[in-house]
Amino acid sequence: MKKASIVSIGNELLSGETTDTNTAYLSRELLSIGMPVVSFYTVGDEIAAIVRALRLAGDDADVVLATGGLGPTDDDVTRQAFAELLGAELQMENELLERMQVFFARRGLEMPEKNSIQAYIPVGAKSLANNTGTAAGIMAKAKSKVFFAMPGVPSEMTQMFRESVLPEVRPLAPSQTVVVRKVRCCGAGESTIAGILGELMQRGRNPLINCTAESGIITLHVIAKAESEAAGQQMAEDDEKLLRDALGKLVYGTGEQTLAEVVGLELARLGKTIAVAESCTGGLAAKLLTDASGASNYFTHGWVTYSNGAKTSLLGVPKGLIDRCGAVSEEVARAMAEGARLKACSDYAIGITGIAGPGGGTEQKPVGLVYICVDSSGQSDVSRCQLSGPRESVRLRAAQTALNLLRLQLMY
Ligand code: AMP
Ligand code: MG
Repeated sequence: MKKASIVSIGNELLSGETTDTNTAYLSRELLSIGMPVVSFYTVGDEIAAIVRALRLAGDDADVVLATGGLGPTDDDVTRQAFAELLGAELQMENELLERMQVFFARRGLEMPEKNSIQAYIPVGAKSLANNTGTAAGIMAKAKSKVFFAMPGVPSEMTQMFRESVLPEVRPLAPSQTVVVRKVRCCGAGESTIAGILGELMQRGRNPLINCTAESGIITLHVIAKAESEAAGQQMAEDDEKLLRDALGKLVYGTGEQTLAEVVGLELARLGKTIAVAESCTGGLAAKLLTDASGASNYFTHGWVTYSNGAKTSLLGVPKGLIDRCGAVSEEVARAMAEGARLKACSDYAIGITGIAGPGGGTEQKPVGLVYICVDSSGQSDVSRCQLSGPRESVRLRAAQTALNLLRLQLMY
């Protein structure tokens, strides 16, 4: 299987000033044409370091894509590094010089002398047109490997990649497809899910199943390598079935689907409505639910009842109940949800009350303790959750957990 490696060049990347978005973009694009990226290198603007990284990348892969360091100023030396890698001189390409002169003339400017360096390409290499800036790209072959240099500016890089690099790279992997399917889960942690899947997650298996976790959502990436798109799709589909059988209710969706979208689709399908009453999540559950277009079909009300007084006056939570059980309690979560459902005349309601932290925790009620109630006329389920992490993450996990509990009540 043909593979790729990426070299990101620029002092601003090493200092943390600029986040390397080029690498993420290129990795996704290359995978989508069936060429997995096997390594990244990041180096500063220094010829020896760039040459070393290019050689390492060439050892790892068949295709090396470098970005950055093609500007006109003295700190940009990728062009010189390519010349050294190839053991070739830099030579001026008249056509590139003319293109640049036209580029400046169109803007009513004279080309600064400094820019002329951008018309130089190593002997034996090919230049790649830049239709949005002055930095031409470079394509060169060395020891049966293909090396590309593209500008660092993301908009220039993406355009050059699509117009000049992709047509060269695609034919290198003609009968090679990588199909990625994402299976989204909620309700258990990574290690529990890995435990259930057992050998399905074995390394070296095809499809390979990788796992990532974010704010309580576990994503299983099914990566199928095949000789045709159809075969890859079939393998991914078969694996999705295996995962669904093994994980049951834990699987809520696929692809980029969010919990809120899935819950929204189900509410719409059933013709049911939802209201939410939130304390520690400060409206986040309402926000997530209304992020989905078409939410007006099922979302009726959202209350942020942060104070005890608001819980009582807006939702009808008895003051005595709060005094007796505390605002963060199973009883208050239930009373918030019931109150919200009755006030909103909705079919379902969610009540959320908890301690997001970092302050406010006690031994009995520590930071991260959240009670969530999903209430409908025939059913009222309260979950006691002990969530970890900083305030932001407790709030997001609480809101996601609430949506997941709603999903379970709606669907099972
Ligand atoms: P250069 O081609 O080195 O002149 O890069 C020009 C600009 O592109 C830099 O100043 C950065 O802001 C940006 N840039 C360079 N490399 C990257 C990268 N890997 N990801 C995102 N932006 C980048
Ligand atoms: Mg630079």
